[in-house]
Amino acid sequence: MADILVYALHYEGAINKNSLGAVSEGAALASELGGECHVIVVGGDDLTDDLCGSIGNWGATKVYRVNAPEGLAQPVVDAMAKVIGDDGHGYALFGGGLLGFEVGAGLAARLGAGVAMEVTAVRAQDGKLVAERPILGDSAISEIAFRSPVGIIIGRLNAFEAKMSSPPARAAAVQDVEVELSPHAQQATMVQRGEQRGADVDIEGADVLVAGGRGLGKPEGFELVEELAKAFGGNSAVAATRAVVDAGWYPYAAQIGQTGKTVAPKLYLAAGISGAIQHKVGMQSSENIVAINKDANAPIFEFSDLGVVGDLNKIVPKLTEAIKAKKGS
Ligand SMILES: Cc1cc2nc3c(=O)[nH]c(=O)nc-3n(C[C@H](O)[C@H](O)[C@H](O)COP(=O)(O)OP(=O)(O)OC[C@H]3O[C@@H](n4cnc5c(N)ncnc54)[C@H](O)[C@@H]3O)c2cc1C
Repeated sequence: MADILVYALHYEGAINKNSLGAVSEGAALASELGGECHVIVVGGDDLTDDLCGSIGNWGATKVYRVNAPEGLAQPVVDAMAKVIGDDGHGYALFGGGLLGFEVGAGLAARLGAGVAMEVTAVRAQDGKLVAERPILGDSAISEIAFRSPVGIIIGRLNAFEAKMSSPPARAAAVQDVEVELSPHAQQATMVQRGEQRGADVDIEGADVLVAGGRGLGKPEGFELVEELAKAFGGNSAVAATRAVVDAGWYPYAAQIGQTGKTVAPKLYLAAGISGAIQHKVGMQSSENIVAINKDANAPIFEFSDLGVVGDLNKIVPKLTEAIKAKKGS
């Protein structure tokens, strides 16, 4: 079947942006396959008709609403397996993130379906979907096609752009679905939901950004760049590369680049960042770019206004002291 089913997370009355990216992608792909993009949402009373219907603005024609706990993987696996079993979707698409990975993997196991994870692009070819996934440290791309009746595609976080239709589209039809949860899906309960630490950092509005990369060596290395940002004072903030965000050293909200945020501060100071193209696209419009890197051949020096070759562990603390001294603090 040419229809695509997308799982959309929601939190505090809003559909997750990453999920909406998957809906936009699913809608574009479904129309190429001659099918429709449907969405499944799981939750309680907060899933109003308006909220569900509004997903039509991102290209969904139908929203399945399931009354079950939100934020836990197994109830969503049960719900998606039922909807796919009843209505015969050909693909399930996820925007990524930890829950997307868990649900997608569980659904693949339940349906005996092929799964492609960490996908960065999908295309329709000969009436089927082909997923692209970077491999070997992102140095090559593998292409994945599906032999199973259902193909499961899990994107990298924010790999798919949320594109709202303009003018707003017709509201999606909302269909309530009764799902009998399997006993193991009722074993876990949600105790509390919350935003990731640092989710509120405003790197897009900062005048000075001190960005840290893998060259910081360990999560605690971020203390060096935090101290430096603090010394600058005023409207300054700390940013990060994807490598360190993926490693869990710093919150995703601080990530700059192709799959993160785009910034243009007055000063962008990069410490221990190689300058990969996917990072560069998010910060190349900065007014002044200063890079500290121990490798004189690091690509970041090709687009820096000032490059300092050396060990950041020695340079950053001295710079922090010098700025504090200059500011008299
Ligand atoms: C589809 C796709 C999307 C992506 N999106 C993004 C994105 O949005 N943002 C992003 O940042 N990346 C993104 N990436 C990943 C990107 O390709 C790079 O892997 C990543 O930017 C590298 O991060 P890094 O510079 O921290 O690490 P590395 O590339 O490992 O660089 C670390 C640098 O630190 C230097 N260093 C080490 N020790 C020291 C020291 N003591 N003193 C000074 N310098 C030191 C090294 O010389 C090196 O240059 C994406 C990749 C793909 C395929």
